[in-house]
Amino acid sequence: MTSATSLLPDLTGSFSSPASGNPTGAMVEAAYVHHGINARYINCEVAPDALADAVAGARATGWIGFNCSLPHKQAIIPLLDELAPSAETIGAVNCVVNRGGRLIGENTDGRGFVAALREIGDPAGKAVTILGAGGAARAIAVELALAGATALHIVNRDAARAEELGGVLADLNRCEVTVEEWIGNAKVSPSSSILVNATSLGLAPDGDSAPAVDWDAVRDGLIVCDVIPNPARTRFLARAEQQGAITLDGRGMLTNQAAINVRLWTGIDPDTAVMRERLDEAIEGWRHPVGGDR
Ligand code: NDP
Repeated sequence: MTSATSLLPDLTGSFSSPASGNPTGAMVEAAYVHHGINARYINCEVAPDALADAVAGARATGWIGFNCSLPHKQAIIPLLDELAPSAETIGAVNCVVNRGGRLIGENTDGRGFVAALREIGDPAGKAVTILGAGGAARAIAVELALAGATALHIVNRDAARAEELGGVLADLNRCEVTVEEWIGNAKVSPSSSILVNATSLGLAPDGDSAPAVDWDAVRDGLIVCDVIPNPARTRFLARAEQQGAITLDGRGMLTNQAAINVRLWTGIDPDTAVMRERLDEAIEGWRHPVGGDR
């Protein structure tokens, strides 16, 4: 945090490539303004071979923390001083916190998902089917296991990747784990009360794509979640609603992980409603650049 005598804002931001179109800065700065936090968030284009210099620059200029996004979530690990336990298990970092000059790697993607999910249903004691085994699926699966889910069923096109995630979850030893290669329509495990699309299917500009699912198994009251933040109402969620499911969009996860980041950096628990409103505006502004924020 900025000392009371300093007029300089605390610095935070994001290192990724491509960085253009990232709406997180708009959302985080809305929280800073709303809560009177003297800090800025700078969205930086950082190529893979410049990551070490970018991290050294953040250290040299005393940034209080930063996000790292694609393609740096794993490459950043050797540049940090320590990993928080869940980042270590997930094997990827999306948020770095400067604690007294030491850079600590955190992974808040899965925690953001669980926080958003808890607004409509607690995963504790529930079985969950997860479509996908990439970075988002891995973060979500680990945090669901830590949050008390009783069973996780992983379905992925690349069977080896599904097996690898299954192994990580089995090592955690928190819940029953099953994996399945995704062939044809993905099966929703009959015991599941939550279904998550953690693949990249449905992301704009490929908004017409959607995971192929056995829709007969999607019944009234099933909680169906998507990680895709743009569009908010994916084809997958629209179809799930037709089946009577309760749905959660990917912007909930994005908002909540950013709120956790702000809390880790500043100690202030920000108002997620303010952040979500600004996120919606930023994404719509990006879709329709006239009057947008970039
Ligand atoms: P990865 O590249 O690590 O993983 C992509 C996943 O999607 C893999 O499981 C891959 O399967 C699957 N997939 C891709 N294309 C297809 C297809 N045609 N059919 C079936 N499966 C497919 O990406 P991430 O996990 O990092 O990101 C996934 C999505 O999550 C992105 O769209 C991203 O925007 C979103 N995301 C959202 C966040 C939020 O806060 N809302 C945070 C982080 C990510 P396979 O292994 O077989 O290739």
